Amino acid sequence: MLTGKRVLITGASGLVARAVALALAERNEVHCLGRFADREVARTLQARGIRLWHWDMAGGGTGGLDGIPDDATHVLHAAVDRGSGARFEEVVAVNAMATGRLMAHCRAAEAFLYVSTGAIYARQALDHRHTETDPLATDNPWLPTYPVGKLATEGAVRAFAVTLDLPTTIARLNVAYGPYAHGGIPVILYRQLLAGRPIVVPRTGQHYCSLIHTDDIARQVPPLWAAAGVPATVVNWGGDEVVGVRDLMTHVGDLTGVPARFVPGDVTRAVVAFDSTRRRGLTGACEVGWRDGVRQVLRAHVPDAVEENREVSDRG
Ligand code: NDP
Repeated sequence: MLTGKRVLITGASGLVARAVALALAERNEVHCLGRFADREVARTLQARGIRLWHWDMAGGGTGGLDGIPDDATHVLHAAVDRGSGARFEEVVAVNAMATGRLMAHCRAAEAFLYVSTGAIYARQALDHRHTETDPLATDNPWLPTYPVGKLATEGAVRAFAVTLDLPTTIARLNVAYGPYAHGGIPVILYRQLLAGRPIVVPRTGQHYCSLIHTDDIARQVPPLWAAAGVPATVVNWGGDEVVGVRDLMTHVGDLTGVPARFVPGDVTRAVVAFDSTRRRGLTGACEVGWRDGVRQVLRAHVPDAVEENREVSDRG
């Protein structure tokens, strides 16, 4: 268990890094960087003793890092500008330059963890379990700018790791879900169904992913820091179970009473499954099973929906 360290985290208003910040704040000094437009989220973090610093990745000049502590022992960089439309140039520049500046600022750290994504793997068979050495690509019709920005930033991270001699891990995250922010794909797609919009799925088969709960993510951050190296260590960061998206959303439908509606199409929210051998070797097994995890997370985001359905089932 990480104790007594000075930890610096970006992206802590979001799904993934908020869980990590709150978990680590119990035994460490935690500083979070971001814009924190949602004041309630900021107050929640501050109430746990976390110090917040305004930082905009798109800021000019020296990158807005002046005055922010530069003596963190451990850094988690999870902030992302995913982009939209045709903002390719901007997405590459904002994410890669902010990340380089952050690494230079924190060059004295013991370990730097960059959260990348499985969205940079080239498409293979839908049930293929991707390893870290599988082909990469940036073809993502659903959100074209996203993998371009992430892959460019992985390049920057590798360069700064060797240039600064900063031990680094690049962890390519799979589908995260948890009680904070947008909740992850199970909650996002549930809300989409509630709004009357069906889920676009492949014309044959289904997408598979390696769902990972943010409790497991928070537990696995310290071992991923311990695995940091120069050149950077690269690892697929997903859960132990491979889950089909149709199966996932059918389970959500069973829990909530909102039936999952699917429509075949070409532009799907594509996700991939991982071979998690390397990650398991570094972090050990996950602890949250996906069926229980999804139930917990739906309760956190939409408590009435899950409770109502349980009453109906009990009566039945
Ligand atoms: P969220 O969308 O929940 O949060 C995004 C975070 O990025 C926010 O905390 C936001 O902070 C910060 N951010 C965005 N723009 C800026 C900016 N200009 N300056 C400073 N901070 C900024 O992200 P997730 O928690 O879902 O994802 C975390 C990381 O994991 C990302 O790098 C993402 O690419 C990666 N990932 C996530 C997956 C998932 O399933 N969620 C799957 C694969 C990878 P604020 O608005 O307060 O500034």
